[in-house]
Amino acid sequence: MVAALVIVPIISIFFIPFYYYMRSPMHILMSSWKDLAKNEELSFTEDELNQLLNHLRKIPPDMEVAVIDSGTTVLLSSMAEFPTTTFISPEKLWEVISMTKENYFYQVVYPFTLSQNSTSDVIIISRALRETKNRRRSHEFTMRWLVIFFSIFSITFITAVIHIAYSILSSISILDKKTKRIADGDLSTSLIDSNEKSKNKDEILNLTENFEKMRLSILESEERRTKFIMGISHDLRTPVAVIKGYTEAIADDVVTNPDDIKNSLKIIHQRTNQLDDMITSLINYVKLSNSEWQQKLEVANLFSELSEFINEAEIMGSLYKREIICNVDISPELEVPMDRQLFQRALENIFTNAVRYSKEDSTISITAKENADKVFITISDTGIGIADLEHIFDLFYRGTSSRREEGMGIGLAVVKQIVESHGWKIDVKSEVGKGTSFTIMINK
Ligand code: ADP
Repeated sequence: MVAALVIVPIISIFFIPFYYYMRSPMHILMSSWKDLAKNEELSFTEDELNQLLNHLRKIPPDMEVAVIDSGTTVLLSSMAEFPTTTFISPEKLWEVISMTKENYFYQVVYPFTLSQNSTSDVIIISRALRETKNRRRSHEFTMRWLVIFFSIFSITFITAVIHIAYSILSSISILDKKTKRIADGDLSTSLIDSNEKSKNKDEILNLTENFEKMRLSILESEERRTKFIMGISHDLRTPVAVIKGYTEAIADDVVTNPDDIKNSLKIIHQRTNQLDDMITSLINYVKLSNSEWQQKLEVANLFSELSEFINEAEIMGSLYKREIICNVDISPELEVPMDRQLFQRALENIFTNAVRYSKEDSTISITAKENADKVFITISDTGIGIADLEHIFDLFYRGTSSRREEGMGIGLAVVKQIVESHGWKIDVKSEVGKGTSFTIMINK
């Protein structure tokens, strides 16, 4: 609709002058004019040609014209009775004019006398059809249709403008009300009504959809924050409750035996360490998700980074009685931009899980291979496997079978964040009872 309203006037603006130009005597006589200007026999001076041209330009469209050298020749003509380059005597000329004057209005101009022949004048004869009854009727008919067309066009145009203005204003006022409610903290207000969705898409609707996305993402981050705080409180409370119980028992002389006191202190120490670990991983996670935190990317040798990790994995493997199989098949020169500390942390988190969720004497394999544009690092275990892979990287997600294991469900969320902040990808495959394998895909 808007396009039609814009395109029709633009076409009219260009078409009307073009239409008049095509029907102007100057355009109709153009090719004969070129011949005339080149004709050396006539030897028009430049001044005479310009004078002639000026006269022709002034003649309105739809008029017939003939330029005649009164001596003899028709120089330019759009009149059927006087073809160009034919000879015509003054007598014949006046005869034609007097015979047709009933039908035409004639106008005769003598712009100049040909310089090389002082007896011969140049005559411009122009004529327009007299108004006949039929012609007047057809003219009135055309005018009537033009008036009807422009009236319909104007009414449609005004209606469309009012409609567009109304719909924009009403959308803006709805948007204004809803955004105010959101600004006041009511994030539950949806910006898009279900019936609004079915309406045609326009700019305002696009804007509203963007606001809606913003609202949902704020809502989501609010929910994440609440879940985060609830998760922390819950997970921190467990070791705190144990510590509190044992210290109270010692303080209230419930436990008096020196061996029991020693055991209690051991448990308190363990739980304090656990708390310390939890707090450290929380701080690290918060740091990682904070937008102010800057990743320190530097070009590192991937082979030596992997070797460093494998050394530690082997020590941990022998400590926890896991067989570690390594197969690193990448170029020792391969350099990749990365934050080395974070890279090590991601591998450690995956590896510790492989140890935690597998049995003693089971095998954990670490492999690295490359193709033309990627390096694939895979850590696989033969442990309990994961039933629900969908939420594995969500913050605080803990598999049902791991409830008794210590952990907060942060490790894999951290891994994902590290991998994605480098522009890499991570993939997981798992089969319950058989094992799990994580693959990090690094861009070369
Ligand atoms: P958690 O501290 O609970 O281990 P993670 O984010 O590291 O937190 O892991 C989330 C959950 O994913 C774990 O609770 C566990 O259920 C599952 N998981 C992770 N790695 C493995 C693995 N190698 N084998 C089996 N389950 C795993």
